[in-house]
Amino acid sequence: MNRRKLIRQLGTVGPGILLFPTLFSACRKEQLLSGQTFNGKVIIIGAGAAGLYAANLLRKHGAEVIILEASASSGGRIRANTTFADYPFELGADKLRGKRSIFYDLAAFHTPASLAPYSGTNYYLLDGVLRTEYFLKENAGLAGAGATLFQVLESFASYPGTEMTVAEYFNEISLEHRFLKIANALVGNDLGADNAALGMMAMKERASLSAAGNDQFFLNNRSYWSLFEMAFPDEFDLVQVNKVVKKITYSNQQTQVETLDGEIFKAARVLLTVPLGVLKNNDIQFDPPLPSAKATAIQKIGFGKGIRIALQFQQPFWADNTDLIMGGTLIPQYEVSSTGRSSAQFILSGTAMGEAAETLSAMTEQEAVAKIITELNQMYPGTGVNSKFSQQYLFQNWSNEPFFHGSFSYPSPGSEYQRSILAAPIANKVFFAGEASNDNGHSGTVNGAMESAYRAVLEILQS
Ligand SMILES: Cc1cc2nc3c(=O)[nH]c(=O)nc-3n(C[C@H](O)[C@H](O)[C@H](O)COP(=O)(O)OP(=O)(O)OC[C@H]3O[C@@H](n4cnc5c(N)ncnc54)[C@H](O)[C@@H]3O)c2cc1C
Repeated sequence: MNRRKLIRQLGTVGPGILLFPTLFSACRKEQLLSGQTFNGKVIIIGAGAAGLYAANLLRKHGAEVIILEASASSGGRIRANTTFADYPFELGADKLRGKRSIFYDLAAFHTPASLAPYSGTNYYLLDGVLRTEYFLKENAGLAGAGATLFQVLESFASYPGTEMTVAEYFNEISLEHRFLKIANALVGNDLGADNAALGMMAMKERASLSAAGNDQFFLNNRSYWSLFEMAFPDEFDLVQVNKVVKKITYSNQQTQVETLDGEIFKAARVLLTVPLGVLKNNDIQFDPPLPSAKATAIQKIGFGKGIRIALQFQQPFWADNTDLIMGGTLIPQYEVSSTGRSSAQFILSGTAMGEAAETLSAMTEQEAVAKIITELNQMYPGTGVNSKFSQQYLFQNWSNEPFFHGSFSYPSPGSEYQRSILAAPIANKVFFAGEASNDNGHSGTVNGAMESAYRAVLEILQS
């Protein structure tokens, strides 16, 4: 018996489904149109967070739903490796971002005991030495540069200037050169790119709209996708895997969806949730072609390269209770992933986006890992990093995945206001959800993907 069938038998799902409107009322002022139904068929393309959540909402409102998924399994950019460590190691989304969010509510409702806040210490590489945030902010020798940097993180919403990249902005405010890698780890890498690839106006838009909060959480004894399996078990039965959608024809009354294996599906409405990378790559043909404004939005919104690695050590070499280590060159952001998840294993994860991901992509995995170990040796001199490395690693390059072509969307220069255009339905037949179409400041997150699904389902119910 597979796990979701087991969960269903145990009956842990029922209350979640029944209580959905109340459950999410904390973060959603409006409710789905009560009593409104959609008595037709909806094809959802993509079985990630947006697709599964949309399926759940649509079914509750009477729609007949099928989900076509290109990969061999559901989950999309929520994917865990369950054999590398003695806990599920997340290859994609690994932080639950923001307490005022549907994703947080989902976890708090179904598995409150697994929900854990990040409570360790973050370290930043400055002049070759790892320092705490407190040191960066308070050390007199730094003349307030660290404090300025952390202040900027909080103040994108009130940026008064004109368009420039985040890198140019740090130059404009004369942030000392030695802080730039830390700034890149904190801003650019965190948002799926580099500071040189982020636009200040899109950053301002994002920061002004976001209401989820800055708290971050993780699940300490389960994978993120297992939470979806627990919350939406019936929707998994609607997923048809290995169905790579190649063409959507929406000129007739019924919209037609054609897959690579030549199968044709027809429905009254289609909800597209594929990653922006798939749209940028023109993997799906539209007949008639997409409106030019939407094609422009697809080009303007950034979609970054992204790599997640995991390195296993026999012993830790980092300080007790370390969470993040930021400011490296090869890997801008390391995380002690085993903290709070395992007491027997010592796993360091690394997330490299943008240029760092491109640099690593140009190497073999073995070369990349060897260089990363050298970088860690320089960060932690004399701690025996080499000898503690068990030679066990994982390497997940999202840019090489054919159904993703990258990690997640980012606020590129000129992309402000574009997400609503990306999200807009066409001809009242083809609807759009997925993290990149989130236009309320939560793009690039699981929460944002779910919120976009909620918005798209409202549009379908009103269509
Ligand atoms: C390395 C990394 C780190 C991340 N870290 C975080 C984090 O810490 N916190 C956070 O909240 N978020 C994080 N994210 C982002 C988060 O994972 C995504 O925002 C979210 O999972 C996107 O969900 P979605 O439903 O929009 O898209 P997806 O999960 O990508 O689902 C879309 C689905 O469409 C399918 N598809 C593609 N092409 C086709 C086709 N032609 N036909 C049919 N199906 C197709 C794909 O296979 C996929 O399953 C991270 C992502 C990555 C890659």
